[in-house]
Amino acid sequence: MTDQADFLAACRDLLGDAYVLTLDADTAPFLTDWRDRFTGKALAVLRPATVEQVAAILRACAQWRVPVVPQGGNTGLVLGSIPDAAGTAIVLSLARLNGIRALDPVNRTITVDAGCILQTIQEAASAAGCLFPLSLAAEGSCTIGGNLATNAGGTAVLRYGNTRELCLGLEVVTPQGEIWSGLRGLRKDNTGYDLRDLYIGAEGTLGVITGAVMKLYPQPKACITALAAMPSPAHALRLLSLMQDHCGASLTGFELMSQYCLQLVAEQFPQLPRPFADAHGQYVLLELSSSQSEAHAVELLEASIGAALEDELIEDAVVASSVAQSEGLWQLREHIPLAQAQAGKNIKHDISLPISRIADFIAITDAALESAFPGCQLVCFGHLGDGNLHYNVAPPAGMTDQDFLANQDAINRIVHDQVHAFGGSISAEHGIGALKKADLARYKSPLELQLMRAVKQALDPQNIMNPGKIL
Ligand code: FAD
Repeated sequence: MTDQADFLAACRDLLGDAYVLTLDADTAPFLTDWRDRFTGKALAVLRPATVEQVAAILRACAQWRVPVVPQGGNTGLVLGSIPDAAGTAIVLSLARLNGIRALDPVNRTITVDAGCILQTIQEAASAAGCLFPLSLAAEGSCTIGGNLATNAGGTAVLRYGNTRELCLGLEVVTPQGEIWSGLRGLRKDNTGYDLRDLYIGAEGTLGVITGAVMKLYPQPKACITALAAMPSPAHALRLLSLMQDHCGASLTGFELMSQYCLQLVAEQFPQLPRPFADAHGQYVLLELSSSQSEAHAVELLEASIGAALEDELIEDAVVASSVAQSEGLWQLREHIPLAQAQAGKNIKHDISLPISRIADFIAITDAALESAFPGCQLVCFGHLGDGNLHYNVAPPAGMTDQDFLANQDAINRIVHDQVHAFGGSISAEHGIGALKKADLARYKSPLELQLMRAVKQALDPQNIMNPGKIL
């Protein structure tokens, strides 16, 4: 038998034939990324159901030096969860390791397997009268292991933080196949280096996350939504300050959308609501949560909107008066990426900036792109309260997608150079994966890269964990 055949035979002994996929028809769904940009090749797709099976597979991978690509829901946007074209790696799907292990309402924690779908965790928390606040458009498909590995953000970061802030403990299988059980539900634990924080955001390059203890919160008594219209991003930033002053921690959502974003959504999804008769420059979707009552939330929101109108920060506003109306407003925000996908190709940038500098960044970068690619369409929206913009560029009318994509590197360079100049980050929430590796090397300092390589070398000296990703 060849080495590969020996390895696969060992995997079949560990998992059973049904969970070692090698036929193209079986492996295909695991090999293409969510946006259908790249299809890799794998020696096999392995589907363990227990932590011990994950550990045994990693010991086999270490023995045969087989690269491992961990995969959760495969919804990542930076080509991190699929293998390269060499065909020598395995995809390790965590999808069958998907149980809820424990829920402690007094400690306000939930302990889950890494392959648990995010929505399943939200529902389990809700059934116990608690809130698990991580929320993003892929929540019906993505897993908590993938959320942790990418330190996912989403729509509630403003109030509750990124996935990192929601995690109290981890269980990880090392590249040598040992199981580190750090499933402590402690809010304070200063006992040396924080290994948990090292694995969060590591995109599967240091080990495989198999379990996690996540924080739960009290469910808000009421949650209300409004859409405000204003002339410019500078007005939106002043509105953010005003809302934070008036509402404090009750402000749980603050999403910016440009006029062109809503125009695209209206063109592609005419059935969705059109809250304003007239066009405005920018819009902000506001969400307020109250731990007291609906009346309290309404009072806070109406007082804040009144103050914003008086200060001429906003030109108009609609407040949702029912759950259906609130969902309709959120759908406008959530349909922007879908509308873009239907409208044609675009070049995406998931960036973050110091909040106070966002308006200047948009003005300068819009002008630089317009000068280099006259008529290009700028689809700018995002979690403004977190300083996170999705700054996407679509082709000018009449330019083919192919001609436009030939300029991808030049467009990325214009946007990312500005991000760097403004003290921002080229990846706010999606990670680096294989897609942004060259950009990371360009914009991180040599010392940061050297320290990151030292960590990788120390934890994964054989370089079998998701090689070719991040570094
Ligand atoms: P995958 O895509 O399977 O993997 C992502 C990375 O994590 C890969 O590098 C993989 O190797 C690694 N990985 C996966 N599981 C493990 C594990 N158990 N142990 C170690 N490494 C692992 N992201 C945001 O932050 N905010 C958003 O608002 C947001 N919205 C999105 C909306 C849509 C429609 C889509 C498609 C994606 C969105 N994303 C967003 C991207 C986001 O990163 C993912 O949806 C999610 O966090 C990834 O989870 P997953 O289980 O699909 O991971």
